[in-house]
Amino acid sequence: MIVILKQNPNRDQLDSLVSWLQEKGVIIHTSIGEAHTILGLVGDTSKLDIDLIAALDIVQDVKRVQEPYKNANRKFHPEDTVIPVGNTQIGGGNLTIMAGPCSVESEEQVVAIAQAVKASGATMLRGGAFKPRTSPYAFQGLGAKGLEYLKTARAETGLPIVTELMDVTQLPLFKDVDVIQIGARNMQNFDLLKAVGHQEKPVMIKRGMSATYEEWLMSAEYVMASGNNNVILCERGIRTFESYTRNTLDVAAIPVLRTLTHLPVIIDPSHATGKYWLVEPLARAAVAAEADGLQIEVHNDPAHALCDGPQSLKPEVFAPLARKLLELHAFMKGLDS
Ligand code: PEP
Ligand code: MN
Repeated sequence: MIVILKQNPNRDQLDSLVSWLQEKGVIIHTSIGEAHTILGLVGDTSKLDIDLIAALDIVQDVKRVQEPYKNANRKFHPEDTVIPVGNTQIGGGNLTIMAGPCSVESEEQVVAIAQAVKASGATMLRGGAFKPRTSPYAFQGLGAKGLEYLKTARAETGLPIVTELMDVTQLPLFKDVDVIQIGARNMQNFDLLKAVGHQEKPVMIKRGMSATYEEWLMSAEYVMASGNNNVILCERGIRTFESYTRNTLDVAAIPVLRTLTHLPVIIDPSHATGKYWLVEPLARAAVAAEADGLQIEVHNDPAHALCDGPQSLKPEVFAPLARKLLELHAFMKGLDS
């Protein structure tokens, strides 16, 4: 349920409404916007008398929220969520460009790629240290050592790092990363979602391969219900009948999520297509559809990459793409203003 307050509500009346609601056992999330303050009520609201609340002096309107996700719902929080990361911000009209290798392979590799993507305009460094691989015989990532190399690359370039957490037991190692990525395969690992919800680092949840918007938003809800509101959603392609591309990029996710939620939306055209030459057109499509950012795999030697070489861009291919994406983003902002 949401309670929309009139402008400049009387403080005493507001305090007594809040304590009365709390006595009824509901949790209240207050969202202060430019025009209105909204109280989002989570818990069993079935026994609350809507007409009684609506009749209060300070209340403009009361609505039931049908969707099962509450904290992630735009009705609860009409303004876009903006997440500060290092000296950049995700959301709020910025174009975040996360770039880097699929997997961290060595310190030299990740530092060289970080320097190259930074010079081209990337705002964050991606790289997997713990890798979820389909085959147990494939390279599984460098683990804790990979995280150390990422931190070295951050120290060299100033780029904040985003890297995947696969298991709750690894969480202590992630204390010093900037954004924790929850991979597509773990989107519904509810214990993992609760664990990252109990700490405060931003969490980027990649869409499960067959997840609906609602299931995906419920994963965000798990993190938020545990106390962490810094959640980012990343569309990385879904499984369809089409097998030419690795997955099918759901560009509609951008405007749909914009309506359903206030959380920032990132697009990953690399995993969505599996082919390096499809990254540019889909990245452009994402920016044109007003995504908050992109996650793009870049490798200095894709032919010998230990993971996802066929979808990785060389730094010299990424550089003009990043420039074009920033220009397109500026153009899109101009159209709206
Ligand atoms: C990745 O980003 O390296 C990755 C494994 O992505 P996804 O979880 O989307 O497959
Ligand atoms: Mn990859």
